[in-house]
Amino acid sequence: MIKIDHPFGYLEFSGNQVKAGAGLSLSELSRRVAERGLSGLEFAIGIPGSLGGALVMNAGAYDGEMKDVVTYVRVMDGKGRCFTLLADQLEFSYRHSILQGSDLIVLEATLELTPGNLGEIQARMDDFTRRRESRQPLNLPSAGSVFRRPTGHFVGPMIEELGLKGFRVNQAQVSELHAGFIVNRGQATAKDVLALIKIIQEQVKERFGVELVPEITIIGEE
Ligand SMILES: Cc1cc2nc3c(=O)[nH]c(=O)nc-3n(C[C@H](O)[C@H](O)[C@H](O)COP(=O)(O)OP(=O)(O)OC[C@H]3O[C@@H](n4cnc5c(N)ncnc54)[C@H](O)[C@@H]3O)c2cc1C
Repeated sequence: MIKIDHPFGYLEFSGNQVKAGAGLSLSELSRRVAERGLSGLEFAIGIPGSLGGALVMNAGAYDGEMKDVVTYVRVMDGKGRCFTLLADQLEFSYRHSILQGSDLIVLEATLELTPGNLGEIQARMDDFTRRRESRQPLNLPSAGSVFRRPTGHFVGPMIEELGLKGFRVNQAQVSELHAGFIVNRGQATAKDVLALIKIIQEQVKERFGVELVPEITIIGEE
């Protein structure tokens, strides 16, 4: 296991561009560029994790995603060779980049932002934070939104319509606040979460004819 953390938490400013280490917290990055009056990363406030993880997943929220701001990314391959990839080469799409499933380790990224009004940037971030806090079960452990958004449908309302809000497999529970989240009520195991995912997928398929695909990454044996 490789943990990209300190000393990969640096941040350098150069005009509208920032260069940041892959270990920097995405929320911290979002806050610090905002303080400089740079716009473009407001959407990232409140997305847990590091810049590196956000690039791998093309993390996004509220109509923004990493692909909108990335210029290039410095990586290291399995043989220890370092090189730079342009944003286009990363083939970003919804919660996906070619970094997924590759042996590349993200070391740092350069992002292009736009100068903005400090008050307006802060207001957008406050709005996103309020929305997140009121609609997501942030008081309980979860892996975030479980399923990818299928075209033309919303996951939460479909699960809610099935009456599955609050439904449990042992201590894994469909969040009572946002049905697109599975929360751990204490001692849930991966097996419980996977069983709950399967029940949701089967019922959604049967009622709505929609295949729900997990957005979370499942690691190890099922
Ligand atoms: C409450 C909650 C809310 C969330 N809300 C959102 C949201 O609004 N939008 C959204 O997009 N996501 C959301 N997520 C999911 C998650 O926060 C993002 O996917 C985030 O970008 C993951 O970053 P991470 O650093 O934790 O990466 P991890 O989850 O640890 O890793 C993700 C993948 O990237 C790889 N990886 C991580 N760092 C590197 C690196 N430096 N180099 C190479 N590979 C690397 C890992 O091996 C893994 O395959 C949410 C999660 C939670 C728990």
